[in-house]
Amino acid sequence: MIKIAELISGPEIAKDIKAEVAEEVSEIVRLKGVRPGLTVILVGDDPASKVYVRNKQLGCEQVGFKSEAIRMDENVSTEDLLKKIDHLNYDINVHGILVQLPLPPQVDKNRVLESIFPEKDVDGFHPMSMGKLVAQQDCLVPATPSGIIEMLKRKDIKIQGKEAVIVGRSVIVGRPMALLLINESATVTVCHTKTRDMGAHTRNAEILIVSAGRPNLIGGDMVSEGTVVIDVGINRISKDQADPEILKWRKDDFETKGATLIGDVNFLEVEPKASYITPVPGGVGPMTIAMLLKNTLKATKMQLGLKL
Ligand code: NAP
Repeated sequence: MIKIAELISGPEIAKDIKAEVAEEVSEIVRLKGVRPGLTVILVGDDPASKVYVRNKQLGCEQVGFKSEAIRMDENVSTEDLLKKIDHLNYDINVHGILVQLPLPPQVDKNRVLESIFPEKDVDGFHPMSMGKLVAQQDCLVPATPSGIIEMLKRKDIKIQGKEAVIVGRSVIVGRPMALLLINESATVTVCHTKTRDMGAHTRNAEILIVSAGRPNLIGGDMVSEGTVVIDVGINRISKDQADPEILKWRKDDFETKGATLIGDVNFLEVEPKASYITPVPGGVGPMTIAMLLKNTLKATKMQLGLKL
């Protein structure tokens, strides 16, 4: 009998979360006459960033938030961005502020992120938010790793006492992921490019979370039977980059769009060994937006002094 892993569907869980957020939004509007508002600042014309911002705005519409996207020129200065953020910090109709990354090189990213009031920092990238996460204090937590914890919990996957291995140590995924898993009492290992013998670690994982941005980094020989595999990576593969297996697997994508999206995990090799796995697309991606909305709701409640 061929064993097949259970797919963890990001869109399904994200839909449930959005429905919960929408319900709370109606309550807040009814009780306080306040509609949560998210403002996204988009600098420049990067096509991928534009798509991300559009999707965030669509998410806002779905749950009943007010949303605004502020477009700024590619050549904007750090000072101009700071002025804009300062204005939004004091606007009582704006409960969440998000600066879409990446920013152009002339902009001091750290100064910009640090200028957002922590209570409006719905991305959770402010050093105060990160520090509170380390100190195990309530705060706004980055959306992608908190979405992964939410996925595991909603699938009743036990985290406590498990060997959890993360590949990637980025500030937005790997590091906060490690902290969240420690808070859930997993035993956590973090791998990166200087890790010796990564397979020795990944084969030991009961929960494996991969956020490296390297297509097919994790092959079938790098995971053990029964592992829960969460693939964060999003890699665009054009027809000329694809090997024959991917060309066959994603034939429709190549015919209609000329490219496909794959994760960091070699799905065809790993899926037969995993107990649970997230597909790409259709896994972690939609969760990130759902958790951003949940963060904006939380920020609104904090600012209105409502019970969290
Ligand atoms: P990042 O800032 O691009 O950093 C990548 C991390 O992976 C680094 O820590 C790097 O190690 C490590 N790494 C790279 N190649 C490796 C290798 N061959 N072996 C071991 N470790 C390796 O990471 P990120 O921002 O977390 O993004 C990673 C991927 O996730 C990207 O594809 C991104 O598009 C995707 N992503 C998806 C979502 C979503 O919502 N689904 C959200 C965020 C990111 P070093 O530190 O040693 O360089």
